Amino acid sequence: MSDRFRQRLERNLAEREANALYRRRRIVDSAPGPRIRIDGRDVLAFCSNDYLGIANDPRLVEAQCKAARQYGAGSGASHLVTGHLSIHHELEERLAAFTGRDRALLFSTGYMANLGIGSALAKRGDHVFEDRLNHASLLDAGLASGAKFMRYAHAQAGELERHLIARDSGAALVMTDGVFSMDGDIAPLDELAKVCRKKNACLVVDDAHGLGVIGKNGGGSVEHFELGQDDVPVLMGTLGKAFGSFGAFVAGSDTLIESLINTARTYIYTTALPAAVAGASLAALKIIESEPERREQLRQLVTHFRQGAISIGLELMDSFTPIQPIVVGNARDALRYSDTLLEKGILVTAIRPPTVPEGTARLRITFSASHTQADVDRLLNTLSEISQGNGQDEQAS
Ligand SMILES: *Cc1c(COP(=O)(O)O)cnc(C)c1O
Repeated sequence: MSDRFRQRLERNLAEREANALYRRRRIVDSAPGPRIRIDGRDVLAFCSNDYLGIANDPRLVEAQCKAARQYGAGSGASHLVTGHLSIHHELEERLAAFTGRDRALLFSTGYMANLGIGSALAKRGDHVFEDRLNHASLLDAGLASGAKFMRYAHAQAGELERHLIARDSGAALVMTDGVFSMDGDIAPLDELAKVCRKKNACLVVDDAHGLGVIGKNGGGSVEHFELGQDDVPVLMGTLGKAFGSFGAFVAGSDTLIESLINTARTYIYTTALPAAVAGASLAALKIIESEPERREQLRQLVTHFRQGAISIGLELMDSFTPIQPIVVGNARDALRYSDTLLEKGILVTAIRPPTVPEGTARLRITFSASHTQADVDRLLNTLSEISQGNGQDEQAS
């Protein structure tokens, strides 16, 4: 590496360290679940996106093994060459039916699905409008599309409408998280859909954290608001969160899907998912459709947590999903809070800028259907101990 690059990288890392923004990985030596072994210690974890608690379900694991035995370990090629296996196709058809859309198309990751949507739909001269708190992959999709890019204030459909009115003749794409990944609140999709329809814009909803979790049948934020394909023409879902598997899909009209197949570069120029992964996702979909009690369990845990947290004086966000953040403020305090929890055997990772806005570093607590009420009580007791400890420190100083 040239001196110039080496010095730049070293300076950047040192700056991150000095600002409590350095990121480090921890090594997990167990299957996903509420109890994991991390860096050699057993902890009760509240930070995975395995909301339904099925990432280690024997039915998913068995389906994965079975698909690997039938189709092999790797798909061998991209979907447009020889990688599009019958098990992928079956999964796409089942996902289309599940979401009530005409068709669905598998992508290797949600990140790639979003980039694919942005590049296939928005062109130079068009406009992309995004919620300020959108996931990084949606923001990158808008930026990489080459269209004029603008962010609107979080969940403000009225502001979006003013931007749509003020735009020039270019086509407009509006992109939003369904459930906001770091805040847990739900986008006002009913209002956004109405504004988009009125102002002739196309609404894209990324429901990575809603699908499987909210809506009566687990249909996510679009089911919650009862919005069909006409209201939300482009629906993106991921399979690595509530589905407990891996991958993502886009659902919508035949024209949308054929366009993505023909022009989305992140679809065309990459190897198709292994069959085993599609097999696990199919098993997950069956569980999502047939075991609504997992969503009910989540609802009860969230209610229990919120009641308990309020009674010990914690400030919560406006979220009724399994994402229940506690905003701490600066990155150093968030790290310290997370470290203190870990000393007491509880893992909640600190989320710092630029993942969240400056000054809003937080503990992102998430629940899974495989947590018990006793697990939540243990979390609450520990949080209470820590906040009392902090109070004493403040009095002493
Ligand atoms: C996780 C996530 C993604 C990315 O999905 P992957 O399949 O993990 O790449 C996209 N959007 C949102 C809102 C997410 O939370």
